[in-house]
Amino acid sequence: MRAVDIIIKKRDRYELSREEIEFFIQGYTKGEIPDYQAAAWTMAILLNGMTPRETTDLTLALAHSGEVLDLTTVVPNAVDKHSTGGVGDKTTLVVAPVVSACGLPVGKMSGRGLGFSGGTLDKMDAIPGYRSDLSTEEFLEQLKTVNIVLTGQTSDLAPADGKIYALRDVTGTVQSVPLIASSVMSKKIASGAHAIVLDVKVGVGAFMTSLEEARSLSELMVSIADLAGRKAVSLLSDMNQPLGNAVGNALELEEAIRTLRGGGPEDFIEHCLVVAGQMLALGDVTPDEEQGMRMAESALQDGRGWERFKSLVAAQGGDVGYIEDPRCLAKASLIEQVPAPRSGYLKEINARVVGETSCYLGAGRAEKGEQIDLAVGILIHHKVGDFLKTGDPLFTIHANDPAKLEESRQRLLDAHLWSDKPVEPLPLFYGVVKN
Ligand code: URA
Repeated sequence: MRAVDIIIKKRDRYELSREEIEFFIQGYTKGEIPDYQAAAWTMAILLNGMTPRETTDLTLALAHSGEVLDLTTVVPNAVDKHSTGGVGDKTTLVVAPVVSACGLPVGKMSGRGLGFSGGTLDKMDAIPGYRSDLSTEEFLEQLKTVNIVLTGQTSDLAPADGKIYALRDVTGTVQSVPLIASSVMSKKIASGAHAIVLDVKVGVGAFMTSLEEARSLSELMVSIADLAGRKAVSLLSDMNQPLGNAVGNALELEEAIRTLRGGGPEDFIEHCLVVAGQMLALGDVTPDEEQGMRMAESALQDGRGWERFKSLVAAQGGDVGYIEDPRCLAKASLIEQVPAPRSGYLKEINARVVGETSCYLGAGRAEKGEQIDLAVGILIHHKVGDFLKTGDPLFTIHANDPAKLEESRQRLLDAHLWSDKPVEPLPLFYGVVKN
């Protein structure tokens, strides 16, 4: 078999066999197939798609490119969550400690930013000392003793996905149902969680822009979970406007900390409680998600979630002083609050433009492995449907480069659309898919 023939076959819209998919993934993992061929292959998949059978074979090949954990040896029931990527999505930082504080161990392997969407590990990097490179042994030990782990994919787990994920980020090959489904599910299968809540974002600021695409991605991932013997629920959640107010790594961390300490934006809190409720129900801690939500709400309100977050940070070597006093976190040198240029109702706050502008300021990567600026980002002060008067604070830019600040101001003003008539707020969720 030759990699080039497999690329050509997909380019010409033929269905690949399991052997061909395994050959490609194994070859790429071992370094026998170079990046340029993997980039061409993923582009052919993006353009021509994959059948559910091919996607399942790709998922299993990615999952088995390294070690596959069996968490049953450590905890009887571990639950995981995964978002398909959004703007301002710092949900894991709140949900993981809250769910863990409710008695369900959370062993989570997160990723870095992808395209215009932020990544949990980049946000956690804003805590000096925090390690997101735990070994498999450390992962298992911490899950057993602290009941919560939030780390990167170890090099032993789904290493092929780690390589392809970084390649897709910089080759325009993120937005593909089979590539997203196999990437997400391979990590979940390899990291051994018994139950998984999938947060599938839909809207202009998501990789799935239509509800139809998001639903088919959800159905595919839930059926792959079924096949791998895992319970799964997929939430279809709105990503037309940013989630919460903060976009950018240290800014999002600060917002998550505020939420864990009893503050935080309403939409973000509600979103976190729904995800946590689903996790608690799926992990059999509560009989249903409504009771799960109420349990999560009390763990958030009485500070148990916050205490668990501090334990997580301490266990992974982070300096707890920085989260106790987030004013110590990285700060941009230029901070400018931009007022509303007119009065009226907000009709649209384009999450894609906000995410891209945050990356442009330095919060995301344009090339593989690039250093990012943890301090920069944007605070969006309102939600679709809000009424503002001229001069009310609209958004605040945190920048480290005056030219980028200038350009971002205009981009963000253009991302806000107005109406003279009242506008309905956007829903947080559009539906649920279960197995
Ligand atoms: N999250 C992932 O882990 N992979 C993707 O491809 C997209 C979002």
